[in-house]
Amino acid sequence: MDSLGRKRDQDILIEEQVRTDRLHQLFRQSTSAVFGSFMGAAMLCLLCRDRFERNVVVGWISLLTASSLLRILMFVVYFRSPLHERTPRRWERRYWSTLALSAGIWGAGALAVMPPNDLLAQVLVMLFAVGMSVSAVSCYSAYRDMTLVSIGLVLLPCTVWLLFQVSPMQFGIAVAVLVFSSFVVSASRNLSDALEKAFRLTREMERAHSISTHAAQTDELTGLKNRRAFFHNAQQLHSYCQRNRLPLCALMLDMDHFKLINDTYGHQVGDQVLRQIGGVISTSFREADVCGRLGGEEFAVLLPDTSIEAALGVAEKLIQTIAGLKAEPVNYITASLGVASAHIDDKDLHNLMNSADKALYRAKALGRNQVVVAE
Ligand code: GH3
Ligand code: MG
Ligand code: MG
Repeated sequence: MDSLGRKRDQDILIEEQVRTDRLHQLFRQSTSAVFGSFMGAAMLCLLCRDRFERNVVVGWISLLTASSLLRILMFVVYFRSPLHERTPRRWERRYWSTLALSAGIWGAGALAVMPPNDLLAQVLVMLFAVGMSVSAVSCYSAYRDMTLVSIGLVLLPCTVWLLFQVSPMQFGIAVAVLVFSSFVVSASRNLSDALEKAFRLTREMERAHSISTHAAQTDELTGLKNRRAFFHNAQQLHSYCQRNRLPLCALMLDMDHFKLINDTYGHQVGDQVLRQIGGVISTSFREADVCGRLGGEEFAVLLPDTSIEAALGVAEKLIQTIAGLKAEPVNYITASLGVASAHIDDKDLHNLMNSADKALYRAKALGRNQVVVAE
């Protein structure tokens, strides 16, 4: 894949992660909204118990109870589901429908309980409705459209009704509510933009960090671990094997007469051969093995939980694979290998590497293109 395509894929991935972060934030922030909206309506009804019609109050509270229970159920299912299932595709639509239902019931119910000839009760209803709207900003800040829809559903029925009443006082209240709402609407934009920016920056920083960490640990030419990363991982693997009393073997590989390849065919051909060797090494070993390019045309592999006999078998096979490589225009590629196994009480990785290195030099001395096991 070209770098433009990779960049596009990464942008799509970050977009997807930001959407998921927003969803998690929404669920975390809005748990209290379920109880808050129910308690708000209950308090309002309690305060105005002599002013509201009893039947309407019972109907409103019953519907609100049902919608709140539905929302609580949704929250329980969400928080109990595994993390990988908490995706926007799966949850956004569910959230939207329960939010619209409960906000719609709140707004329509507030209008239904509002007595037409009781100004104090009307003011109280509007006070609670405005309170609901302000808390919607904090609860749904990750989704601005949810904030706006819930404010609209809660506030508009009563506000529009008041707008068309004859008393200038009622008209004034409606206008004041609309003016306050416009501030709330603009604050919600700033808040959701800031949140989205924070999520995106966090994800981009994580991405940049993982790219730079990978680059710092990888040998550019072969894609294997570089010397530093190899020894870092090898040290950890050595300690792990010591702790668990597992056998551990090391292979050291050095290309034969590589200088001659460079001198005969040029440095670029030499690089191409090293790339091929990197490919062979990365596909010849297990996930648990640690492979790296130590420098130049020298490679090393650590094999955990492996006997010296098994390591020798792997090394022989590797030598044969390398000798059979087609690398036009080079018509001979061979390598020498030293194999050693760690002593069970050996605390130091370098003793193991030294033994493999000595074995490698014996393989060179014995005529190259062969494996020698350390004494
Ligand atoms: P021997 O069989 O004894 O190992 O001989 P050799 O020629 O392989 O060993 P020597 O150490 O004399 O030469 C290693 C050569 O590897 C020298 C250097 O130019 C070449 N080399 C080291 N790193 C690279 C690289 O990144 N690319 C290329 N093309 N050549 C490299
Ligand atoms: Mg060499
Ligand atoms: Mg060398």
